[in-house]
Amino acid sequence: MAAAVQNGHGEAELLDYEEEVEEQVTSNGSAEADQNQEPMDDGDRVVMHTPYHGHVSLHTAGFRDMLLKPEILKGIFDAGFEHPSQVQAECIPKAMSGVDILCQAKSGMGKTAVFVISTLQMIDPQATTQPTVLVLAPTRELAYQIAAQYRRFRRHLRGIRIGLFYGGTPLLGDIQNLRAGPVHIVLGTPGRLKALVRERVLNLSHIKHFIVDECDKVLGQLDMQSDVHEIFLATPFEKQVMMFSATYQTAVLQDCRKYLSKEAFEVLVEDPAKLVLKRLVQHYKQVTEDKKYRMLKDVLDVIEWNQVIIFVNTVTRASTLGTLLSEEMTEVIMIHSAMAQEERLARYQQFVDYRKRILVATDLFGRGMDIERVNVVINYDCPTNPDQYLHRIARAGRFGTCGLAVTFVASDVDAQKLNDIQDRYDTDISALPDQLDPSLYTSEEAAESSSPDSIDSAN
Ligand code: ADP
Ligand code: MG
Repeated sequence: MAAAVQNGHGEAELLDYEEEVEEQVTSNGSAEADQNQEPMDDGDRVVMHTPYHGHVSLHTAGFRDMLLKPEILKGIFDAGFEHPSQVQAECIPKAMSGVDILCQAKSGMGKTAVFVISTLQMIDPQATTQPTVLVLAPTRELAYQIAAQYRRFRRHLRGIRIGLFYGGTPLLGDIQNLRAGPVHIVLGTPGRLKALVRERVLNLSHIKHFIVDECDKVLGQLDMQSDVHEIFLATPFEKQVMMFSATYQTAVLQDCRKYLSKEAFEVLVEDPAKLVLKRLVQHYKQVTEDKKYRMLKDVLDVIEWNQVIIFVNTVTRASTLGTLLSEEMTEVIMIHSAMAQEERLARYQQFVDYRKRILVATDLFGRGMDIERVNVVINYDCPTNPDQYLHRIARAGRFGTCGLAVTFVASDVDAQKLNDIQDRYDTDISALPDQLDPSLYTSEEAAESSSPDSIDSAN
């Protein structure tokens, strides 16, 4: 059961956390560049998946062995899940036993289903009219996506109502929604949930399961952390806390542990190299800032993409690049935090529904988002740190499928960042060759070979 955390955080009134810092992009070499930096390896070697060592797969138990409610099992098989991934095999039974969980597993391995399935199993909609499950996510789109997962697995269960709450929409609508009938599972972004608690329309005094997805992001940002803290204090002392992420900065890990009991079940990946997706081919392309746009179009011409996400570092750049590209290609759409929420979600849905195939996005889309057909990620702007890189590129290669990530390197600073990424994840990112064998990053191959054992490494 969860330990209480110390009170006393500063409480900023911030309800939206998604604004990017406009100054992040450094397109030219600058004084920041490491003077000792070696020139980048410009070899044309295609990175193949390095063989995975040292992991013993635990796929002895299937979903049936978890003794789930038959309605949930039906939902799981309707969703096409045949076998649990390792993180699911390890953590779903633990979660259902009620212990606190701190879970790290690499991106795309099904962490969402761990808390969705286990909480649906534990929930008793007859027991109370107040919510017993609370899920927090760093962005509105992710909260929306998690709600869709709950709906998918809840399909055959009766009487479980889900309440989804996030900023950028009228508070009054949420209040009406909460008054319309009992809500059993509450999920959303911390700012809006805090506001609803303060308005005294959201009663969290019956919460039994407190879940934070992408917890290193949520607790790593002071404004969100303070909101989470306030929400946490509105829940009962006795409850189960579960936290999930693919990455944990050491300092944030300590913050996460403040919310967990000493007996928490921790699944952590000690070696960062094991967080790299095996079937994701990674390359960089050296290009000056003024040639990036042309290079982007060249890359899109030569590679075989199904759906693509192009990441930039700021809202302004997303808007500019998105507008430019959409004038030339009808399948382009962009999403960033300066857009009205309704518009944002409508665009997200178009991309999910495959009505648009190229998404220009900021890091708003870098965490947790799961779009099945994305096989290519392009970092038009180099990510600012290794974790951000890892999260962005993992939008391709979900659940053991193949994918390709290409990162534009436009300055010495970018080159240094790329070296940092390679060092941290002990991974080799080579120059994008003129010709790249599509079978390396298109998913047909993966579909054939993707058994839970083969997809799994560090979960
Ligand atoms: P994570 O949170 O670990 O990054 P997600 O929960 O978003 O991963 O899952 C990634 C994708 O894998 C989703 O599309 C999900 O539906 C799919 N998935 C998860 N578990 C399974 C499973 N056991 N079998 C098949 N697909 C799965
Ligand atoms: Mg996730």
